[in-house]
Amino acid sequence: MAAEIIDGKAIAARLRARIGEETAAFVRETGITPHLAAVLVGDDPASAVYVRNKQRACEQAGLKSTLHRLDATTSQSELLSLVDRLNADPDVHGILVQLPLPEHIDETTVLDAVTPLKDVDCFHPENVGLLSQGRPRFQPCTPAGCQYLLAETGVQTEGSHVVVLGRSEIVGKPMALLMVQKGKAANATVTICHSRTRNLQAITRQADILIAALGRPEFVTGEMVKEGVVVIDVGINRTEEGKLVGDVEFTSVAAKASAITPVPGGVGPMTIAMLLQNTLAAARLQTSAQ
Ligand code: NDP
Repeated sequence: MAAEIIDGKAIAARLRARIGEETAAFVRETGITPHLAAVLVGDDPASAVYVRNKQRACEQAGLKSTLHRLDATTSQSELLSLVDRLNADPDVHGILVQLPLPEHIDETTVLDAVTPLKDVDCFHPENVGLLSQGRPRFQPCTPAGCQYLLAETGVQTEGSHVVVLGRSEIVGKPMALLMVQKGKAANATVTICHSRTRNLQAITRQADILIAALGRPEFVTGEMVKEGVVVIDVGINRTEEGKLVGDVEFTSVAAKASAITPVPGGVGPMTIAMLLQNTLAAARLQTSAQ
């Protein structure tokens, strides 16, 4: 049986349209337009594209977005001053510091400086703590996007064995936290694998749902998965020929999977939709706190 291709682009478009309606209602009720401030340091072309896409999506959904572009030589204290200003600005509801930052800047220090109520990427320790306790303030964008895709596809997660490849703070760990939570599209039995995992294939072959977030082009092959597996490919890698590929070798894995996300057009668009959702949630939180 051919695998169902999980159309992240279409699912994200529907979600963005819904967020647009909710934003319009919020603006009508409060007179306040949710506002995402993006901070881009340096001139990494991929980061510039990501930020532009996020800004465009904000504008299409009726959210305000502003970009603070800083030179690659900006010092850490200058960046922290900007974050402080944005933290204190009542017109700004969400702050996004685009990663990676230049090497002379400590990412953790900067991300920790974003006030938790405006931390729409859900990176602040307070928000990660709330998430781990099952009472999230914000959703971690990429993992929540993956979970949303599973829910929209009608995948049974309860009691299923979810294997997450990768343990990063941005994807792997929060992904596992979401899936192990009590509740809808969760209640899974979760295994996290990383570069020190022994006998990886023996574990991936047990997965009912495999979520790959390694940053290794086409790492997961057909022989690493069982028949009927659902595969979410978070990876975005550019090959030497300039082609965009995921962490999953699509053809051989799709031949065994019951459902699979493509790259591009799978997880990527969901990350942006979740960022919009968090910005609206942040505006609601800050408005109700006034
Ligand atoms: P990181 O490099 O931070 O983490 C990669 C993880 O994979 C690490 O935990 C690492 O293990 C593990 N790993 C690497 N090689 C192996 C291996 N051979 N076997 C087992 N585990 C391995 O990456 P991110 O989590 O930030 O991103 C992962 C991928 O997802 C990237 O391709 C990135 O571009 C993409 N991405 C996509 C997004 C989207 O919107 N679609 C958003 C964010 C990321 P260890 O910890 O031991 O080093």
